[in-house]
Amino acid sequence: MIERCPLCAGPMRDRFRVRTFNVLRCDGCDLERAAPMPTEQELSALYAAGYFSGEGHGYQDYFGRERAIADEKARVRMDALERAGLERPARVLEVGAADGRFLLEAARRGFDATGVEWSREAREASDELVRERIFASLEDADGGQRDSSRRFDVFAAFDVIEHWRSPLEELAKVRERLSERALIAVVVPVIDNVNARAWPTSWDQYKPPEHLWFYSRKSIAKLIEQTLDAEVLSIECAWERAARVTDAVWGRRNAAQRLEAAITRTLVRAGILAQHSIEDSVLLIARRKAVR
Ligand SMILES: [Zn+2]
Repeated sequence: MIERCPLCAGPMRDRFRVRTFNVLRCDGCDLERAAPMPTEQELSALYAAGYFSGEGHGYQDYFGRERAIADEKARVRMDALERAGLERPARVLEVGAADGRFLLEAARRGFDATGVEWSREAREASDELVRERIFASLEDADGGQRDSSRRFDVFAAFDVIEHWRSPLEELAKVRERLSERALIAVVVPVIDNVNARAWPTSWDQYKPPEHLWFYSRKSIAKLIEQTLDAEVLSIECAWERAARVTDAVWGRRNAAQRLEAAITRTLVRAGILAQHSIEDSVLLIARRKAVR
């Protein structure tokens, strides 16, 4: 049986194999997914204690050494939302909040911040200022009250959507909880770079069962527009690797990598190489369309 693309119903065909999964692709939308999809139970085991602290698949030391990086990213992301017109007062919802560094930045800027984080380990590692505002599920986060005065004015999800088994269903649940003109901020890895396009098994973000859906600039825009009734305002680079070839060979900083990065950046500035060819992830900002 041919798998159907959830965005356009077109055929999703086998593209390549990585780890023990196939990656299927819709040529119409540029959307890709892992197959077979792991079960809920398999995913629960994957994200059990240790995911954020170097014991499993995930991060090495998310609550320690990686925190300064998280704080810098939080500032960049809040800046992007404020540039897009976010004004106080506003209720900010982050799904996949981890230890809440983005929520902390939002709270410091005077916004009402609420988070959803499945991992108890991550919730408990969050700052006291936001700990009580981070819930285990979306249902807990809105207290079951979905009247319009309780809706969220911002939906944020950073490095999260690609982990979901059923992104359309999850986003439909988010949509019910958003205000009419809510802003959306999403970071996802994108498959527009040369590794993902030309040598897919060399790209480290093709990592099922952690990442299950793979987006490009085009397909993430389509997903957000379709599921949240939104209009994309901007897509900017969130993470790039200018030394792609030497990174793959040596995997650590050295003179050859610095040289490759310098040459690559020069080629991008000169317009010879496209920016998207060195991008690993993007920050997308969108706004829900007013109901007519
Ligand atoms: Zn499609």
